[in-house]
Amino acid sequence: YVPGGVLVDAPHNAFAQRLATTKRLLEQRVPAIYEASFDAGNVYAAVDILERDGDGCRLVEVKSSTKLKQEHIPDVAVQLHVLRSSGLDVARAELMHLNRACAYPDLEDLFVREDVTAAAEALQPELPELIAGQLRMLAGGLPDVPIDEHCSKPYECPFMDRCWRNVPEHHVSTLYRAPHGGAALITLGFETIAELPPGGLNAIQERQRLAVQTGRMIVEPGLATALRVFEEPLAFLDFETVALAIPVWDGCHPYDQVPVQFSCHRPAPDGTIAHHEWLADGPGDPRPELARALVAACRGARTVVAYNAHFEGGCIRMLADAVPEPTSSPSPNVWPTRCRSSAPTSTTPTSTAASA
Ligand code: SF4
Repeated sequence: YVPGGVLVDAPHNAFAQRLATTKRLLEQRVPAIYEASFDAGNVYAAVDILERDGDGCRLVEVKSSTKLKQEHIPDVAVQLHVLRSSGLDVARAELMHLNRACAYPDLEDLFVREDVTAAAEALQPELPELIAGQLRMLAGGLPDVPIDEHCSKPYECPFMDRCWRNVPEHHVSTLYRAPHGGAALITLGFETIAELPPGGLNAIQERQRLAVQTGRMIVEPGLATALRVFEEPLAFLDFETVALAIPVWDGCHPYDQVPVQFSCHRPAPDGTIAHHEWLADGPGDPRPELARALVAACRGARTVVAYNAHFEGGCIRMLADAVPEPTSSPSPNVWPTRCRSSAPTSTTPTSTAASA
């Protein structure tokens, strides 16, 4: 990405080799070093891109995200600290991330750079104490910290399998869409859904609480009415997608969710169910062929039913945009022209519908 850049090409844990290679490349005054590695005061840092900037240098942290996040700043600040402690003159620190506006095949502006020098500078005074605390923690015993929101925010902890494996059945983290694994409920002292009092939950969570506490399936009186929205014939549809950081198909942006597989179940009046499926094979753009197969699978359906109609509707809209004429004989009765999503309530089923 940076002309003349040279990669420190060694295993991530070959510390001595990486430090020596970085030193040699700095002496050679190459324009940029990828994965330049430094060690100062028991802190090791590998800089994604270290660019020459006049007599000094510029550090660039590359993230696969599509925007600058607050948690990126301490990351850059520690690198700045280590580089300066190693004697480098760092004039500027940047955060480079993907640009969602960029679309294949024009990838000229795939990345955006943001100047985070001031924010990283602002953290410098407190870093020595923070680093000392981290080193004390690493040298000490296993911390005895209860599971909580910190286990998944801002990132999922790699020790989740260990710390969360003994949680009881119906732990509050299993509550439907409980934010951050039910951290707020854990903080309030609740361990399982069985302990939760009525109120304060959304309709689906309340149904789940009732089911757990009564030990029976909850079938509410409004279910039959709610199901009337599903006008037959029905097609039950599910997509699988890939979201590539670097797009490879026409018109796609970073992380566009591109359908590569679908599964469609069609109930017949005699009670049998036909299954249609399609799976991409090979590196080519899957959308035209998938769209043709999808139209055939849904032919004649009055309602396309999806567990998450917002997602499946988005996939269908993407296919419609990418493949305006999905078949040689388009069927307006089948190709979805609008999507209806009904948020589940206490009287509606957990499925949602995309109207054909
Ligand atoms: S999962 Fe991670 S953050 Fe959570 S308690 Fe265990 S070690 Fe700490």
